[in-house]
Amino acid sequence: MKNITFNQLQLRLLALLFLLFTSAVFGYRYFVELPKLEQSISKLSERERDTLTFSIASVLDTLSRINFDYAVWTSSYDFIRLQDDDYIEENLVSNTFVSLEIDGIFYLDEHLKPVLVKGFHHIKQTDLNFLFYDFDKYPNNINMLPSATTETGAPKKVGFINTLYGPAMYSATQIRNSDMMGENRGFLIMIRLLAPAFVDALSKFTLAKVDYLPVPTGEVLSQLKSWEEKVTGAKVTPYCDILLPDSNNVPVSALRMTHSTGTIPPLVNEQSIIFIVLMSLFIYLVHRLVLICIIEPVTRLAADIKQRDNIEKYDPIDEHYTVKELALVSKNVNQLMATVKQQNDILAHQVNTDQLTQIMNRRGLINVLETYKALCIREKIGFVLVMADIDHFKQFNDTAGHLEGDVALIEVANTLNEQCKRSGDVCARYGGEEFTLLFREMSEDDLNTKLSAILQAMKDLNLAHPSSPTAKHITISMGAVIIRATDISGFDLSIDDVLRHADKSLYEAKDAGRGCFIIDNLVI
Ligand code: GH3
Ligand code: MG
Ligand code: MG
Repeated sequence: MKNITFNQLQLRLLALLFLLFTSAVFGYRYFVELPKLEQSISKLSERERDTLTFSIASVLDTLSRINFDYAVWTSSYDFIRLQDDDYIEENLVSNTFVSLEIDGIFYLDEHLKPVLVKGFHHIKQTDLNFLFYDFDKYPNNINMLPSATTETGAPKKVGFINTLYGPAMYSATQIRNSDMMGENRGFLIMIRLLAPAFVDALSKFTLAKVDYLPVPTGEVLSQLKSWEEKVTGAKVTPYCDILLPDSNNVPVSALRMTHSTGTIPPLVNEQSIIFIVLMSLFIYLVHRLVLICIIEPVTRLAADIKQRDNIEKYDPIDEHYTVKELALVSKNVNQLMATVKQQNDILAHQVNTDQLTQIMNRRGLINVLETYKALCIREKIGFVLVMADIDHFKQFNDTAGHLEGDVALIEVANTLNEQCKRSGDVCARYGGEEFTLLFREMSEDDLNTKLSAILQAMKDLNLAHPSSPTAKHITISMGAVIIRATDISGFDLSIDDVLRHADKSLYEAKDAGRGCFIIDNLVI
């Protein structure tokens, strides 16, 4: 798998979380909440439409009751027979139209011939001449009358009709005696023009806005339902349109009712936006928290470890972390670094130390010499190199044995090492029975004194060497070379040259009889 950062991983996880939550919320809203809402709104619209139907029926019913009261009344019954003017004066004055809120009363005898017709606009208070009852001219209008005639009841019919003065509602009732005795004497029809008051009343009943609609044509008309038709499970629409047809199913008028709730709420509403904002805020806070408490400390820890590795220094790293595990990691890293440092020190010591004598070996010497060389070139600090070689050591081995030889080597090494008193003085085993001494720059006189002191120390050591042709005890010969910074030009100082010069002096000391030293000055 590709390497990704902790932060990238965190961001991906949080993005996934965000996606999960939002899809859960919107999924719930889309698949559960909105369909339920749609169902409820559809039900509400259905109720409102039912209320409209009921309201229209109520208005028609009111007219029908008035009509019935007049039609099934002994005075009306007698009027048809006697055509008494008093009846007209008492009951059919203008005030009757106003108080009953009707615009026309029509008495037809049993042969459907008009006995008394009167049109009067109850609001405008003007005479109206209706012609719809002329069934010879408008034969279809015959359907507005109740079809059945009966001996015991008074059949009635209500509905809508187109008149010369526009759409109107009507009620027609068979004229009968109050006690329903006697025969049918014709029909009483009452007309009420569909005025704004009609839709106002419907609006009041339904608690929704109801308006007249121009009667549509063609396709739209065919889709409209009559006001009496029950509609269930309709789609949610802002309004519903209904038709008011006459008794022949010809549209008289159309109404539009605006539903109180006509649209399905959108998928993204205020709550979901608030939810997303809160969710984003929450995710941002989690991100900051993880960043501050985990990612940044881990990055700091990694950088601290890397820095120690880069400079190859193993100072302890900061162990103060809020997260317990990180504190533990840093503590363990410190422990590990301490172990590494310890082992490095041991290794460095072993690498630069001579196993037999436990003083510096040639490798260590060369390293120190490099430092001396650098100091000489850059800081103008000179130094002295002395090569010391045990005299006739082969013979010592041959007579005393190698083990004794080793002991003698250790003794000599210790004696020489003790002469290196100042910091920076070095005593190393160069190889075999040869040793090298390094001192800070000193005058030839001082060096003379120093080397004489060393010879004296060897004398004082007093290691018997019976087979030596030159002395009774072990002696050393020394070749010294003084390297003064003032004698070195540029960067031409070579460690090999220094060693060669010291070697040359050593041979000269050997040639001079051993147990002595020769001092040389290196000039480049
Ligand atoms: P010279 O005075 O000319 O230096 O004579 P020398 O015998 O010391 O010189 P040579 O180079 O011929 O011999 C050096 C001897 O040092 C040879 C070897 O036996 C001895 N030697 C070198 N390393 C060791 C060691 O680690 N232990 C012992 N016991 N002897 C060693
Ligand atoms: Mg030698
Ligand atoms: Mg020797």
